[in-house]
Amino acid sequence: MSDSPARTPERESMEFDVVIVGAGPAGLAAAIRLKQLAQEKSRDVSVVVLEKGSEVGAHILSGAVIDPVGLDALIPDWRERGAQYDTQVTRDRFLYLTKNGHFRLPNFLMPPLMSNHRNYVVSLGNLCRWLGEQAEALGVDVYPGFAASEILIDDSGAVRGVATGDMGVARDGAPKDGFTRGMELVGKYTFLAEGARGSLTKQVIANFKLDEGREPQKYGLGLKELWEVAPDKHQPGLVQHTMGWPLDDATGGGSFVYHFGENLVSVGFVVHLNYANPYLAPFEEFQRFKTHPAIRATFEGGKRVAYGARALSEGGFQSVPKLAFPGGTLIGCGAGFMNVARIKGSHNAMLSGIMAAQSAYQALQEERAGDVLETYEKAYETSGIVKDLKRVRNVKPLWSRLGTRLGLVAGGIDMWLNTLLPFLSHTLGHGKPDHASLKPAAGFKPIDYPRPDGVLTFDKLSSVFLSATNHEEDQPVHLKVADPDLQRASEHDRFAGPSVRYCPAGVYEWIEAESGGEPRFQINAQNCVHCKTCDIKDPEQNITWVTPEGGGGPNYPNM
Ligand SMILES: Cc1cc2nc3c(=O)[nH]c(=O)nc-3n(C[C@H](O)[C@H](O)[C@H](O)COP(=O)(O)OP(=O)(O)OC[C@H]3O[C@@H](n4cnc5c(N)ncnc54)[C@H](O)[C@@H]3O)c2cc1C
Ligand code: SF4
Repeated sequence: MSDSPARTPERESMEFDVVIVGAGPAGLAAAIRLKQLAQEKSRDVSVVVLEKGSEVGAHILSGAVIDPVGLDALIPDWRERGAQYDTQVTRDRFLYLTKNGHFRLPNFLMPPLMSNHRNYVVSLGNLCRWLGEQAEALGVDVYPGFAASEILIDDSGAVRGVATGDMGVARDGAPKDGFTRGMELVGKYTFLAEGARGSLTKQVIANFKLDEGREPQKYGLGLKELWEVAPDKHQPGLVQHTMGWPLDDATGGGSFVYHFGENLVSVGFVVHLNYANPYLAPFEEFQRFKTHPAIRATFEGGKRVAYGARALSEGGFQSVPKLAFPGGTLIGCGAGFMNVARIKGSHNAMLSGIMAAQSAYQALQEERAGDVLETYEKAYETSGIVKDLKRVRNVKPLWSRLGTRLGLVAGGIDMWLNTLLPFLSHTLGHGKPDHASLKPAAGFKPIDYPRPDGVLTFDKLSSVFLSATNHEEDQPVHLKVADPDLQRASEHDRFAGPSVRYCPAGVYEWIEAESGGEPRFQINAQNCVHCKTCDIKDPEQNITWVTPEGGGGPNYPNM
């Protein structure tokens, strides 16, 4: 974090009441609620939303089965206004997969909070596009194509806004033709709504020690494909989740298959990033999953139309950091509001945006600026978000400790207990952060994954092609390796190069030297889909994801 630009000319500056980083459900809900409050009280509030994707929705990747509680609170007449919630859930099933078979868990065994009835299957990206239009109609300045690359701190130590990155910088750092200096967006309050593992959020959490006394944040890597399936295979409103095969019992994760729209099926696979085996390849596990006898029939005769990947936060209740800091707040999945048992976070993202907006609006009415929005923190403590997260708080620790099979049973019992006896207060810890859970390669054998058939299963490069990822190639590499020697000694020599396997976009390669020299770490940064897994999983925390030029990255049409 810095307050002094290193290069000339000086940056221009724009002032707003509230600066919001990220046009996901959290950031857009906050922007909309601020303007709604201003309209009600006939007092204008200036709000800007910065989005690094080329357009709102371009970087949004989710399941998504949406609990409409967030949208109901934000725009109660969303149905009449034509929001993209077209498919209501009609059937909900959970399977445990073995290698060639499966068991179906009867729905009555599931605690009521796990039910998906009254939820909707959507493209969260398209919902965000719609929310972006609503925000603009209310007078919010929405700036897609601008990455917030720097936090601005004032002399008192409070956050006073953000700066966007310079555009037109060559790979070696020299300005190119068309070089444009970044801008300072200064706000009385700054909301960080960057989603899971936000790059500025990470700095702010460290700077203000927001995670002191909390459990480490945990993550999963979610990979997703969108398919157009044969009409006779399409069952609109069917929502299916699985756990078990192809992951072994010690590796957490599972799949989702959601039927919606016109013959569309979202299929995704989540691998919990506390896995130990450095040879595990989440992308290959996903491809293998689709070949299971209970799964493959849905996709036979269909066509894959999109691919992408994104980390999701899984730490839940005990990992939520302090939310307010001098001059701003964390909202949405940057604060870790995902309910891992339900695989849902977008409703809590919206609810947190609404609460932060209400708190900031009150502060603006009182002519305050740059202080700690304690009323947001207080509102969170008694909110529906806490209720949602608290009931499932032990599920992830139980999966991690007991493995998938026993953990499923124990997690189910714990959710029932917390539903029936909500005063129970036992909270299990998560233990190590995800980067510390890899074990040295010497204790494992390489995994022989099947070759893709190009029909049901695919390779990484053709997949990245479907994410429509595009970065200006002649720009500084946005994946910063702090110490190349450490990367070689640790990631390559000790862990056999897991980045090659965990990166879902083929960004990392270890090129072995022909005549006994040192291997070379090649970074194909232009392929990066901004999932943030390397920033989370590198065993030495030696890789840092920073924002590339705004407008680069995936261009998800409807993920
Ligand atoms: C595979 C998968 C499946 C999921 N399934 C479901 C589901 O079925 N139901 C559900 O409710 N939830 C689901 N979730 C979780 C849900 O997607 C998140 O809870 C939700 O998207 C969080 O919203 P957010 O606004 O906090 O962050 P995001 O949706 O991640 O949005 C953050 C936005 O900020 C932008 N941004 C980030 N950093 C910067 C920066 N520095 N400068 C400018 N812009 C920036 C990003 O480009 C992005 O557009 C799933 C997640 C994944 C990955
Ligand atoms: S380089 Fe990192 S952030 Fe980019 S796609 Fe690969 S793992 Fe994800």
